[in-house]
Amino acid sequence: MPDLVVAGGGPVGLAAALYAARAGLEVVVREPRTGPVDKACGEGLMPGAVRDLLALGVDPEGQDIRGIRYLDAGHAVEAPFTASTGRGVRRTTLHAALSRAVAAAGIEVEHRPVTSVVQHADHVVVDGVVARHLIAADGLHSPLRRRLGLEGRAAHRRRFGLRAHVGLAPWTPYVEVHWSPGAEAYVTPVAPDLVGVAVLAAPGADFDEVLAGLPVLAERLRGHDRGRVRGAGPLRQRSRRRTAGRVLLVGDAAGYVDALTGEGIALGLAQARAAVEACRHDDPARYERAWRRIGRRHDLLTRGLLAASGVPAVRSRIVPAAAALPAVFGGVVNALARPA
Ligand SMILES: Cc1cc2nc3c(=O)[nH]c(=O)nc-3n(C[C@H](O)[C@H](O)[C@H](O)COP(=O)(O)OP(=O)(O)OC[C@H]3O[C@@H](n4cnc5c(N)ncnc54)[C@H](O)[C@@H]3O)c2cc1C
Repeated sequence: MPDLVVAGGGPVGLAAALYAARAGLEVVVREPRTGPVDKACGEGLMPGAVRDLLALGVDPEGQDIRGIRYLDAGHAVEAPFTASTGRGVRRTTLHAALSRAVAAAGIEVEHRPVTSVVQHADHVVVDGVVARHLIAADGLHSPLRRRLGLEGRAAHRRRFGLRAHVGLAPWTPYVEVHWSPGAEAYVTPVAPDLVGVAVLAAPGADFDEVLAGLPVLAERLRGHDRGRVRGAGPLRQRSRRRTAGRVLLVGDAAGYVDALTGEGIALGLAQARAAVEACRHDDPARYERAWRRIGRRHDLLTRGLLAASGVPAVRSRIVPAAAALPAVFGGVVNALARPA
């Protein structure tokens, strides 16, 4: 009987399995998809995520990120990371690196979804397999969150993310966030000859139309090959609680605010570690408390920025204000970059 089943072999589920194996737990991962899994993602690992991955022995290839730069039609301001660098890493590269570590740790990955969960006082039965706990890391639209009755209320403002790669050499080691009146596009260096471009916008936005509204960025990208556009959303997802009996929600399955501040993977890794600790102590309530602590700073800053960006008169002042107060901007960027 495994101690733990992990539903979802995305970055957070695979990291949870690695933490579990390190804690001496018997763990099995269930993930329906095979091969290096791709996903719409800005692909910028914040310094805290890089640190946690290295501690797990996962060192994916990518491009160093030295900080964040905000730009609009008339202003540009940058905030360097003060403690350590982040890294731009393609999702497929990250998935392959995590999968190698999982295989090296002798963890089994079964390629089928979790479809049935039956809870008992001292164990949980996952598709007929008896385990002590189930960690659900099944993503933004988590089927398990819904099935367990943990789905929160739908968000009022709906935003979607669109991501494509463009074949050109990164022109800066900063993640650039380009602001237009209706959308943001952020550019992450991911390989010596490749950048990722992620667009965050209202439902129905068209990737190329958003870029056309950002002339500085459009000029940079003009004439270079762009890959297929992948989408995800609505981004805002809520859960009512993070645990139900012996099931613990981690990563996007536990809820998500927005991709604007790019810390999803850093938070997910910290949650995975805390969830495994709670399983080890047979105390899921301990994870609920840890989840709140891990997300508090990020939640506050991301929700604050998101609220400001939703009011046109305030939105148009965000980049000018950051440029006028670079120390404040740097403080916010580094608060977000700090390990969760
Ligand atoms: C446009 C965009 C840009 C972003 N940019 C950044 C960024 O720059 N930096 C950053 O850190 N984060 C970013 N994020 C957030 C980041 O992508 C997520 O936080 C991260 O992927 C969460 O990982 P996860 O493992 O929780 O979920 P996922 O990566 O979604 O993995 C979930 C896995 O669960 C599997 N699954 C689904 N159902 C089942 C089931 N029933 N049983 C078993 N498995 C199942 C799926 O196949 C999938 O592989 C961005 C997100 C978006 C949308």
